[in-house]
Parts: sequence; C-alpha cells; structure tokens
Amino acid sequence: MLIAGNWKMNTDLGRARQLAQNIASSAQDASDALRDVELAVCPPFISLETVREATQEGAVAIGAQNMHHADEGAYTGEISAPMLRSVGCTYVILGHSERRAYFGETDNDVNKKVQQAHNHELVPIICVGETKAQRDNGQAEDIVRQQLTGALDDIDLTVGDQAVIAYEPVWAIGTGESATPEQAQEMHAFIEDVLTDAYGTDVGSAVRVLYGGSMKPHNARGLLGQPNIDGGLIGGASLTAEDFIAIAKEGAAVTA
Ligand code: PEP
Repeated sequence: MLIAGNWKMNTDLGRARQLAQNIASSAQDASDALRDVELAVCPPFISLETVREATQEGAVAIGAQNMHHADEGAYTGEISAPMLRSVGCTYVILGHSERRAYFGETDNDVNKKVQQAHNHELVPIICVGETKAQRDNGQAEDIVRQQLTGALDDIDLTVGDQAVIAYEPVWAIGTGESATPEQAQEMHAFIEDVLTDAYGTDVGSAVRVLYGGSMKPHNARGLLGQPNIDGGLIGGASLTAEDFIAIAKEGAAVTA
C-alpha cells in the first residue's frame, strides 16, 4: 500500500519544513501500525531537499510533481531527472490532470517523461482519468485506456520496474466529490486488464494502481479496501499531517 501526498503549489519553505516534520513524527509514532504502508510526499521543487532532511526519521520517501524529458540543456525554468535524483527523489508524478489542463501536456509528452524516469531510475506515478463530461458520455474507459497506452508507448515494463499508475477522475480532484468505492474499483480492474493485455499477468498485477480524487480520512477505508486499489494519491488532505497519517492508518487497517 502506497500513500503519496501531492502538495501541488502550496507551502513556502518554512511551511514545507514544518509539515514534513509533523508527518515524519506522526509516521514515527505510528510506525507499528503503518509497517505495511509506504509513505511518500511530493512538495514543490524548492522544498525537496528540506523535506528530505525533515522526513528521514519517519521513513517517508520524496517525489517531485513534474519534470522535463531531457537530461539538461537550454530549457529555462525546467527541472531534470538527474536533478531530482541528486536531491533524493524516489518518485515523480507525471501527467497530472492539472498539467494536462493548464499546461497543455499531451500523452506524448507524458510518454517522453516516463521514458526519462525509467532511464534515471525514478518511479513514475502516471496520472490518468476522465472528465465529468467524458464519464457522462460513457467514454471513461476509452479515455483512460488512451492515456495509459499513450504514456506507456514503447515502454517495456517488467515486474521489477515499479511504475505506479494513479487513477484520478478529474471531476473528483479538489471537489470533495470522491468516486464511490465501486466506481473506483471498476476502473482499477479495467486498468489492470489494460496492463495485463500489454505486458502479461505478472506485470498487470504487480503495477500498483493508486486512487486519487478527494480522498479524506472519512472515505479512505471504503476506497483503499477495494481489491484493485493499491494506495492513494492525496491532494488537499496531504496538507495536514493529521489527515495524511489518518488516511495512511485507514490503508493499514484494510491491509492487515
Ligand atoms: C490530486 O490532485 O492529485 C488530488 C488527488 O487532489 P485532491 O485529493 O485534493 O482531490
């Protein structure tokens, strides 16, 4: 079970340090209960090093929220995979719906970044998910299949590769309206089928698929308890240590 926090464009350096310390100490206090739960936080780039230092004790991995597909060069304002590795990142979120909607990222862009993550041994958390209109039109599975196969085009996943998929219905992100456990389970099972078709059963069942979209302590158990849900990508509720760790404990309760 992986519980990852996406802090988005929130927290200045001081607030990031404080939040990371709070998460690390709460995780440490609950380390017995959380032994089967892996925690990760994805702060803004400028706070990565500070957060890494602040979370070591609580065994919390760190990840970035985006990266460029090249190693280095004249790409003003961008951050590369080697930079993320040098600061201690394990994970990188790729293709988040906010990047797709506000910054025009395409499946092809996401694919180049996934390739780059693989080249540098960063674990990509590849986000897929349909809009409300697409769900209402019965297109949800087609969209998710297209995003998934687009992101993984020409990528030869094996069991050890550790790619992570996050199913994040756009209509559930930041709205307070989570998918129901049944809706989420149905899509997660579909994602496993798509991965199995492409890579075989071993890879299909090994790739972790997280649910994201208004997951909170009160609805986490129902979602995380579904057979094909392997964790959560948490936005708003990852901005307080109390809620983030409460969600992780719900995950631990259904894993035990
Ligand atoms: C997200 O943006 O990845 C997310 C899941 O946000 P929230 O939990 O706030 O809906």
